[in-house]
Formats: sequence, structure tokens, C-alpha cells
Amino acid sequence: RTVYVNGEYLPEDQAKISVFDRGFLFADGVYEVTSVLDGKLIDFAGHAARLQRSLSELEMASPVTSEELLAIHKELVARNELTEGLVYLQVTRGAADRDFLYPDEDTAPTIVLFTQAKPGLADAPAAKRGIKVISIPDRRWGRRDIKTVQLLYPSMGKMMAKAAGADDAWMVEDGAVTEGTSNNAYIVKGNTIITRHLGEEILHGITRAAVLRMAAESQMKVEERSFTMEEAMDADEAFVTSASTFVMPVVEIDGAQIGTGAPGKVAARLREIYLDESLKAAV
Ligand code: PMP
Repeated sequence: RTVYVNGEYLPEDQAKISVFDRGFLFADGVYEVTSVLDGKLIDFAGHAARLQRSLSELEMASPVTSEELLAIHKELVARNELTEGLVYLQVTRGAADRDFLYPDEDTAPTIVLFTQAKPGLADAPAAKRGIKVISIPDRRWGRRDIKTVQLLYPSMGKMMAKAAGADDAWMVEDGAVTEGTSNNAYIVKGNTIITRHLGEEILHGITRAAVLRMAAESQMKVEERSFTMEEAMDADEAFVTSASTFVMPVVEIDGAQIGTGAPGKVAARLREIYLDESLKAAV
């Protein structure tokens, strides 16, 4: 694989990062994941805009403009002949002697991008079957709207799900579902789609924004509010959204079947609309 590190395209085994990098020592970094279908980037503008916002919330300088970022993404997709998969991007505050205080402003940020091939991403068998989730307490920090690389708790959550024979976990705080370990969570009751309102408690999903816009354009009813696990267990349908899974139906929560136990109509329709429209708008 060819990867991108600080201005250079290199074979992955020649790419190097300092042991003093603050991403490594303090998780002082942010990231984005953009999916690639038919060799094109899905929702790129949204991911680039959120990156700039994450950086500015952490008072981190942006090493590249959104235009440069697009060029790097395209170059990596081309060099790796990627038709279906993901582009991962990470920016950290750079390498400096270990100190909790941020280093001098002239410290160069670190920027890394690599691709991951995922054949069958759009046609995932899981989307036809649906996934199973468990609920776990949300024990992450309080600024989940910033897409930082502190992913240990979500990683623990996926392990807990795996140990319970499930695919993923929904996190619960103050009696309400916040989101999935790496996706936004939704339930459908009657013909209303319910998903948590935006705030510092969840990541502002790029797929979430697109799906809610498309749902409204298709005259579906949407409520952005918090919902409880009791409501979720009693829902007609459930699903999650993310850049790497698009719209993924949830058919079981904490061992209880949701709706008929098969992917719901609303989730299936939204997946189709999202894939269709975002592919048309892909760059
Ligand atoms: N919430 C969390 C915690 C996530 O990690 C992700 C995926 N990065 C999402 C939601 C979905 O965001 P997006 O649609 O931008 O991938």
C-alpha cells in the first residue's frame, strides 16, 4: 500500500512517525473516515468541513486546506487502485518533548492518510440480515462532538458486544441512548424516525446529516430527540448510520428482537436512497 505522511507518498513500510508524536502520547489528534465507492469519495465535503471544525475546537493548526485534502485523497485512491473501501485521515498536534501543555505554535502537525480496501462495502451481507447490539454505559469523555482518536472505550464496547455474541454496542447515559460505538443510533416508531439531537454528547455524523436531509426530502417524519432503551426495545425498527456502514439495520437489542426481527422497511429504503444519491454526488 502507498500511504501519505507529511507531504510524501510512501510504501507503508517506509512511513515513519516520531515516538514523541502527541497523537501517540496523548491521543492529541483528530481523524476522519471517508468511504469510496466506484473509486469515488462519498460525502467528502462534509468530512473535510468536520475535520476543520475538530481542529479548531482543539486550537490545532490545519496542515492542509480542504482543496489540498481532496487532492491527497484522490491521489491515494488512484495510487492504490481503490474502487471500494475507506480513506482514513489523521492529524495530530505533532512531535514535541512530552509535556501536558501544548507545544509551541510552530510545531508542525502530523498528517497521515491511508486506504483500506473493503470489497463488497455497499453490498454488505450484514445490511440484508441486520445487526445485533447490546447496551452499555457511556463512559467516554464529554466532548464527543470532536472526532478525536481517543477510541479506547468504543473499542472496549465492541469487545463487550463480541463477548455477548452481538455486533456492536449502543451507549446509554442518564437513561438515554447517546450513539453506537462508531455510528449514530436511530429508532423508528410508527412512521417517525427518532434520533438523538445534536450536542456535545454525540458525534455529528456526516452520514446522519445526509440521511436526515434525504428522509425529509422523501416526506418521512423525523424527530431529533433523546430516546430511552425502553423506547428502543419497543420500537418497530432500529438502525445505525456511519461513513463505513451507510445505513445499517439493527434487528436485536439486548437479546430482544426488534419489530419482525428482519431489517425494517424504513432502514432499507433509507439505505437505498442514501447509496443512490451519495454515489451520484460523489467526487
Ligand atoms: N458516532 C461515532 C462515535 C462515530 O465514531 C462515528 C463514525 N466515525 C459516527 C457517529 C458516524 O459518523 P459519520 O457518519 O460521519 O461516519
